[in-house]
Amino acid sequence: MAARDRYSRKLECSKCGRTGFAEVSEDDDPRRKNPGFRIDEMPAGFSTERASSDPARHMVRCRCGNVFAFKQKTYYAPGGEPARGH
Ligand SMILES: [Zn+2]
Repeated sequence: MAARDRYSRKLECSKCGRTGFAEVSEDDDPRRKNPGFRIDEMPAGFSTERASSDPARHMVRCRCGNVFAFKQKTYYAPGGEPARGH
């Protein structure tokens, strides 16, 4: 059984500016074509609109009604996550 790779990713609504950190897990197995992407925990104010095993197609809904893909075009470099609590 492959180990699950866990990480958190910042969600940011482009409409109202709400942010939160989602807890995500993927199968840590490079042989798999599909990493088995899954959101384990959604931050407050966000919910899953349409689940998908592809993070670019997993749609998230903000409490303001805005729907966007979990994986955005902008990527943060490893260790380059934006500072929290500013
Ligand atoms: Zn919003």
